[in-house]
Amino acid sequence: MVNFPQEILNWIDGQQLSAQAGGWFPKLNPNDGQILCQVARSQAEDVAMAVKIARNKQSVWSEVPPVKRGEILHDLVLNLKRRQTEMARVVASETGKSYREALGETAGAIALGLFYASEGQRLYGRTTTSAVAHKHALTVRQPLGVAGLIIAANTPIANVAWKVFPALICGNTAILKAAEDTPATAWLFGEIAQEAGLPPGVLNIIQGYGEEAGAPLVEHPEVDVISFTGSTEVGRKIQAIAGPSLKRISLELGGKNPLVVCDDADLDNAVKWILLSAFSNAGQRCAAASRIIIFDAIYEQLRELLITKTKQLKVGTSDEDDFGPVINLGQLEQMLAAINQARQGGARILVGGDRLRDPQHCNGYYLAPTLLENIPPDANISQTELFGPIAILYRVANFAEALTLANDSPYGLTAAIHTRNLHRAVRFCEQVQAGVAVVNAGTYGSEPHMPFGGFKQSGNGTREPGTEALDVYSQLKDIYINIDPNQL
Ligand code: NAD
Repeated sequence: MVNFPQEILNWIDGQQLSAQAGGWFPKLNPNDGQILCQVARSQAEDVAMAVKIARNKQSVWSEVPPVKRGEILHDLVLNLKRRQTEMARVVASETGKSYREALGETAGAIALGLFYASEGQRLYGRTTTSAVAHKHALTVRQPLGVAGLIIAANTPIANVAWKVFPALICGNTAILKAAEDTPATAWLFGEIAQEAGLPPGVLNIIQGYGEEAGAPLVEHPEVDVISFTGSTEVGRKIQAIAGPSLKRISLELGGKNPLVVCDDADLDNAVKWILLSAFSNAGQRCAAASRIIIFDAIYEQLRELLITKTKQLKVGTSDEDDFGPVINLGQLEQMLAAINQARQGGARILVGGDRLRDPQHCNGYYLAPTLLENIPPDANISQTELFGPIAILYRVANFAEALTLANDSPYGLTAAIHTRNLHRAVRFCEQVQAGVAVVNAGTYGSEPHMPFGGFKQSGNGTREPGTEALDVYSQLKDIYINIDPNQL
């Protein structure tokens, strides 16, 4: 059983507060469409209150030595570990993913937290030489000030950790705008942080919708950096709103990721990774493989294997299931509309293509695992991210065609190739327009110590996590110290 309040509130200055205007919105369970809880529907005035607190607390937090900040974050991580099963239950209950998957995701958040807690001992600057005698030149990292963190719902605790830990270790205070589809995960993180001794007001958590609570955070003049994980469409809006203020923006956006299978690939391994890459977390991964590019010589063979294995996938919320529902009805309806449009354009549905309507699934937001073919690369569905358990198969003659098709996308987040040919593998990694290239495995996200991010419309060039995230949340200062040997 999972336990969280029936009313999810904001965390501001260590207090739980409802929205000042008194609004609420319901959070529905993706597994059965029932109301899980009511959530504070925050507006600009709630954001303003959180920003004011964060601004007031920032100078004190930034004066805490980085090593000490790291110790506090370490305590937070240990508390998250202590309450890991509880967190995993909350994640599972509000996303519909299995407890097993949610537990793994929470472990990822813990690993990420440990990495950044230790960065307190390694917030390296640089010392260098000078052309001038007796002059010492160095660079140091300094916080930006107040960080606005806006996240997606797909891997809620990983997304919280991904932004909160690097923002705080750098000496910023933060306002996290929780995803409206996963309010309880962020709320519980707030409680865990508070219980672990994170000073009140260092991390404030605002619940609410994007336009009502996210946009005011982006617009607020006292917010110095916005880090956003979400769709390219919203990323573009954020960039436009924040542009005139020149505040720093980090955008981690969508993907339409290609996975190429060459004629010399280990097909069993390729099938395993295609299924995981396309369908795990119901395809709700920015790194999901949604374009499967297959050499002509093995197309029929691989298609048959994929059809067989896809039909065997189990859909539901238990630990034995392969994936669960999508996060909300609106997303499900968009996917169904895209599939229907493709069908009318001549697409062949190899597996799935519809909502699951049997008694176990009919009230939830379940899409059958879907494989499509016979779709032109320039069709809408080939070029648009669907963020669901849907993959399209494409046939190509050779390596050159595969690479061209892999790059024929407005996105450039991740890409994979399956081949035993070293030359093909290395050439693909060199030439594919993606922030992550993988050989003989899946299109997967990053490890905590590695930078993740996309080319083209998958982002704006920043990288999180890894030490590269420190560049998002800190600014460099050059310091020159001149000494006078006559004063010794
Ligand atoms: P979304 O863009 O609709 O929402 C993301 C967040 O932005 C939510 O918290 C939402 O409330 C907020 N938001 C919406 N409109 C806003 C506005 N006008 N101003 C400020 N904030 C606003 O995305 P989603 O559907 O929740 O998530 C799926 C998307 O996230 C996919 O495109 C996926 O690829 C992407 N994603 C990217 C990464 C990455 O690291 N690149 C990771 C996970 C998800």
